[in-house]
Amino acid sequence: LVLWSLGWSFFSSCSPSFQIDKTLKEAVRENREAPDYKTWSLSEHHPERVFELLREQVKAGRDAHALSVELCQSFQAMPIGGLLLFETQIFDEENEEVLRFCIQSLKTKIQAYYDNNRAEFEAQGLKTMKESYSQNEDKRLPLKVIKRDLSQGNRYVDGDLPHKHVALTFDDGPNIHFTQMITKSLEDYGVRGHFFMIGRLVRQYPQLTKLVVGSGHVVGSHTYTHPCLGSKAQCGSKIRRVDYQKAVEEIKSSHQMIFDTVGFVDPIFRFPYGVSTPELQQFLKRNEITEFFWNLDSQDWKAHQSHLAVLNRTKSLLDRHQKGILLFHDIHRRTAEILPELLSYLARHDYTVVLITPEDDRTRINHPLLKK
Ligand SMILES: [Zn+2]
Repeated sequence: LVLWSLGWSFFSSCSPSFQIDKTLKEAVRENREAPDYKTWSLSEHHPERVFELLREQVKAGRDAHALSVELCQSFQAMPIGGLLLFETQIFDEENEEVLRFCIQSLKTKIQAYYDNNRAEFEAQGLKTMKESYSQNEDKRLPLKVIKRDLSQGNRYVDGDLPHKHVALTFDDGPNIHFTQMITKSLEDYGVRGHFFMIGRLVRQYPQLTKLVVGSGHVVGSHTYTHPCLGSKAQCGSKIRRVDYQKAVEEIKSSHQMIFDTVGFVDPIFRFPYGVSTPELQQFLKRNEITEFFWNLDSQDWKAHQSHLAVLNRTKSLLDRHQKGILLFHDIHRRTAEILPELLSYLARHDYTVVLITPEDDRTRINHPLLKK
C-alpha cells in the first residue's frame, strides 16, 4: 500500500515520460554517489523498487504499451555504465512486459560490454576463469573450518578472525545465472563461503540451493522477501518496511524454507541492508542465532564501475584491514567474473579463507525457530 501510493505520486505529479527518465537518471546518480551499501539500498530510486512500482502500475491499469515506449527510450539513451545498474531487472522475466520494446537490444548491449570488459581484464593477465590458466600457476588457497558455538546470539562484524584470515559471504541469492559460477570458482581454489539466501528464491530454486549446500558451503537466511526490518527512521518512509511481528515472520519463514529444502539450516542470519533493531537482535539471541554483519564491503552493488574497480577496491580493503568478513552479492555478474582473480590474490598474499560452522551439528536441526 505504501509503495502503491508512493508510485502514484511518483508518476502522476508531472508528465510521465519526464518522470521515468528522471527517476532512472536519479537512480544512476544516487548509486554512484552513495557512500555505503545501506544508503544505496534504502534509496527510493533503487531499480528493484522502481520496477516493482512500474509493474504495479501496469496491473492497476496504466498503459503498458506507452510505458514500455517511454522506458525503452530512456534506457536506449543511457550510457552503458548506467544501464548496468538495471541489469538484474533487464534479465528478470517478470519485467519482459514493461521492457518489451527493447529487452533484447538491452541484453545484447550489456552482454557486449561484459565480453569486452572481460577481455580487457584478461589482457592484463588477470583471471576470470581458472581454466585458462595452468593449475600450477596458482597456489590453492588454504581453508580453515572454524567450529563455533553459534547459538549465543552473537553479532559478527569482523568475526574476531586472526590476522590474514577472511570469511567470504554472498547475499541475495540463490541466483540462476551467477551462484554456480561463484561456487565453481570457490571449488577451484578449494575454499568455501557463507551464502545468505532469500527464502522466496530458495523456494523458486530448490535444486540450486541443494547444490550450494551439497558443495559444503554454509547457508544462512536473509529473510523471505528482503524488506527493511528496522524502524521508520532507519528504513525511511519510502521503502518496503515491516514491523516487529512481520519481521519475526520473515526471519522464521526464510529459516524454515531452507530447512524444508535441504534438511537443515545453519543458525546464522543477515539483516537486509544491515538494518536491525535491539528487539530483533534480542529475538535472534533468544532463538540462538548469530547475526553476520561485515567489515569489508566490496561495493559490488555499485553498477557504475569496471571489473577492475571492484577488484582494486576489495584488494585495498584487504590491504588496509588484513582480516574480517567480506560482503559480496551472488546476483552480480561482475562479482562472479572477478572472483577467480580475487581468490588468486588471496592465495598470493598468504591469506586463509575461513568457514565458520556450528560447533554442534544438532543446532542445524533442533533449532528453536523450526517447526517440524
Ligand atoms: Zn540483501
